[in-house]
Amino acid sequence: MIQAARGTYDILPSDVGRWQFVERELRAVFERYAFSEIRTPAIEPTELFVRGVGAETDIVSKEMYTFVDRDGTTSLTLRPEGTAPVVRSYIQNRMSAESRMLKLYYIGPMFRRERPQKGRYRQFHQVGAEVLSSTDEPAIEAEVIEMLTLLFARLGVQGVTLEVNSVGCPACRGPFVERLREAIAARGSELCADCRRRGERNPMRVFDCKVAACQGTIAELPALHASLCDACAAHFGRFRGYLDDRRIRYTVEERMVRGLDYYMRTAFEMKSAALGAQDAVAAGGRYDWLAEALGGPPTKGFGFAMGLERLILSMPETESGHAATGPDYFLATIGDEPFRHAALLARRLREAGASVYLDFDRRSLKSQMRLADRLGARSVVMIGDDEVKSGKLTVRNMSTREQIEVTGDDLVETVRSHANS
Ligand SMILES: [Zn+2]
Ligand SMILES: [Zn+2]
Repeated sequence: MIQAARGTYDILPSDVGRWQFVERELRAVFERYAFSEIRTPAIEPTELFVRGVGAETDIVSKEMYTFVDRDGTTSLTLRPEGTAPVVRSYIQNRMSAESRMLKLYYIGPMFRRERPQKGRYRQFHQVGAEVLSSTDEPAIEAEVIEMLTLLFARLGVQGVTLEVNSVGCPACRGPFVERLREAIAARGSELCADCRRRGERNPMRVFDCKVAACQGTIAELPALHASLCDACAAHFGRFRGYLDDRRIRYTVEERMVRGLDYYMRTAFEMKSAALGAQDAVAAGGRYDWLAEALGGPPTKGFGFAMGLERLILSMPETESGHAATGPDYFLATIGDEPFRHAALLARRLREAGASVYLDFDRRSLKSQMRLADRLGARSVVMIGDDEVKSGKLTVRNMSTREQIEVTGDDLVETVRSHANS
C-alpha cells in the first residue's frame, strides 16, 4: 500500500465541512474589509525566498523543498510562505501603477520540511493578508488587527490575546544591533551553537531561538524597545492609540522581533488559549523594505499570516461548520425503465438547483431507503413501473415521514421556485 508522504495528510470528506466553513468565513470577513483574493503559483524561483525570506532563516537554510528543474538551468522551490510571492506578483504585474492602496489576501498550501511532530506538517495551509501602499499609516495596522478579532469572534475562537511591539527602523536598529552583538559575545558560553552563530551574522535572530536552555539568557539581553528613534516611537504610539480607540486589548512584548532587515516598526502576534501559551494563531508586521529588496518600487507593506490547521484546532468542536449535508433528493428505483426515467429526472432536478443522489448499484428498495437515511437525504423519490405509467411520483419527506404524490414536472417546478426565492 502506498502511504501519503511523511508530514502530509488527507482532508477527508468527513472533515472537509470544517475547512469549507472556515474558508467561507475568512472570505466573507476579508471582503467586508475590501481585501481581494490573489492566487500565486505553488512553485517560485528559489531566489525569491532567499532574498524575500532571508538566507539566514531556518526556513531557507533548512526547510525548503528546492530542486533544479529538468532543463538544469533553474532552481525552483515549493513556496514555504505567502508574502514574498504576493509582493513578487505585485511588482511583476505593476500593481503599484494603480496608485491606490492594495489589500490582498491568499489561502493555500505551503511547504516546509520540518521535523514531523504533532500539529506540524510539511504541507500545511496558510491564509494571509497584505496591505501594499505608499503610506505607513498605523491606522492600517489597527484595522487589520480589528479584522482578525472579528474573524475570531465569528469562528468562536476564544481567549485570543494580542501582543505588539515595534522592531524599529534601520536608523535605530543599526546601533542597537551592535550593542546586542557585544552582549551575545559576552555571554556566548551560555547560549547554543545556533545562537552564537546568529550573534555574529544576524544578532536579532537570537530572539527566535526555541532552545529551552537559552531562554533565561535571552531574556536578559538588551531589548530594542528602549532604543527606538523618535519617529519609530511616535509611530508605535499612534498605533497603540488606534487600538485603544477600538477597545482592543494588548500587551507590549518588548522582545518580539522579526529577524529580517526589511521588517520594521509594528510587529504583532495573536495567541489562542486553546493552543497553549506557545502557539501563535496569527503573526504579522510591517515590511516596508521588502518590495525594494525584491527589485520593486518603494512600497510600504503590512500583513499577517495564519496557519489554518492551528486556526481550526483553536475552534470549539461545536463550531463544526455545518458538517457536510446530505442530498435534497435520493431517487430510489425498482426496475430498468424506472431507472432510465429517474436518470432523466435527476438531470432536470439538478438543472433546477437541487442536489440529487441516484443509486447506481440497483439494490433493493429496502436497502436504498437505508442508504438514503445514512446519507441524510431530505427526501426520497420512489419510482417503480406504476409511477412511470401514471406519471405520479411518491415523495417521502425523511424527517416527517410524510408522503405525497406529485408529477415530475411539479417536482422540478417546486425546486426551481425554491432556488429562485
Ligand atoms: Zn527608528
Ligand atoms: Zn539558542
